[in-house]
This record gives sequence, C-alpha cells and structure tokens, in this order.
Amino acid sequence: MPTLFEPQAAMIAATSEGRGFPVRRIFCIGRNYAAHAREMGKDPEREAPFFFTKWAENVVPSGTVIAYPPGTRDFHYEGELVIAIGKGGRNIAPADALAHVYGYAAGLDMTRRDLQFEAREMGRPWDVAKNVEQSAPLGLIHPASAVGHLSAGRIALTVNGQVRQDGDLGEMIWNVAEVIAYVSRFYRLEPGDLIYSGTPAGVGAVVEGDEIIVTVEGLSDCVIRIGPEADD
Ligand code: MN
Repeated sequence: MPTLFEPQAAMIAATSEGRGFPVRRIFCIGRNYAAHAREMGKDPEREAPFFFTKWAENVVPSGTVIAYPPGTRDFHYEGELVIAIGKGGRNIAPADALAHVYGYAAGLDMTRRDLQFEAREMGRPWDVAKNVEQSAPLGLIHPASAVGHLSAGRIALTVNGQVRQDGDLGEMIWNVAEVIAYVSRFYRLEPGDLIYSGTPAGVGAVVEGDEIIVTVEGLSDCVIRIGPEADD
C-alpha cells in the first residue's frame, strides 16, 4: 500500500568497526550511582533498580549542536555509559548477560530537571522530563570484542572544560550484567536496543553555547553543544 508520507528511517548509530548500529529502543536506568541518588534526595541503599524509556529518534551523534528544549528552565546533563545490545533475549540471567552486548559508548541522558521534580512530587510520569527531543546524545559504539566488557574505569563530564562529573564505572549500584538482566524481565531485549546505565554525581544545568564532553575510559568521547531554542 502506498504510504501517506515517508516512514521515518531508523536512527543509525556509528560504530568503531565502520558498520551502522540501527537503534531500536532506549532504556535508561535511574539513580545507579549512590552519590547521585543522594544528590537527588534519595537513599541509594533502599531502592530496587528502575528504568524509564526514550524514543530511539532522540538519539543524536556526538558532534551535534542540540536545541535548548522548550518547556524548561533547568535543562541538565547526565553523562552515562551506554550499553548497545547485539543479541536479543528475555529473562536473561546475569551470568549470561554480557553475551547479549554488542558494545559500549559514552552518552548523555539530557533531562528537563524542573519537570522531572514536578512529576516526581505529583506522582506523574517522567516522559516530558526525560523523553526530550535530541536528549540521547551518543558517542561512537565500540564493540566489546575490541574493548572488552566494562566494569571499572573513569567516567567524567566537563562543561566548557570544567570537570563537573568524575566517577568510576565500578561505583554502579547495578552493574552491566545486572542491568541487562533486570530490563529483560520486563521487555524482550532486541538487537539495536540501547541501555543508558545511569549517571554519577554532579549533574547540573546547561545554557546556550555550552560545550559538554563525556569521557568513559577506553571509549570515544561524546561531545555536544547547546544551541538556541528550536524555532521551526
Ligand atoms: Mn540518567
């Protein structure tokens, strides 16, 4: 059947092996570093893991100037390790989980923090706070076959050259295997899924003109700049 308009093409993320990674869905783990949980006003000792989702179309490659989104006055960066799923599965055991990883990238979970806190207080969904246009910047995906599986190593973020986040992947409350196992209890993971694994302490607001760089030891940096509000 002829379609009324062109269907949206899949977002193809870049990999270090030169082949595209078609992005299917985005899962984001919340409060996965104790110090960040505390800065959000929560007790990291008492929480089961949880996650929210973003549309795949919100992925933008490193190097993008992203528009400052409407509806917020407190747009925050969260630098994160991103897990790229290469092999699907449901109810994956932690011991088997790493076999489902294609690779890893540095990324950002950009957030309308004011709307997130408002939603939290009122018991409402986080969608408008988290599922923001261009809110999932993604660096080059490096295959695990080249860089290994990441369980430790520096994760840091700078804004205009100033260090704002400086943590270690070893501080994750739920490690890569546990995160994959957890999400797969609720959704059948599929090749192309991305899991943003949570952010260390030090989140903060950005303004137009800021340059944000996420560094994860062993991976390529993810670099974005904040542009003016979209007016199209
Ligand atoms: Mn996050």
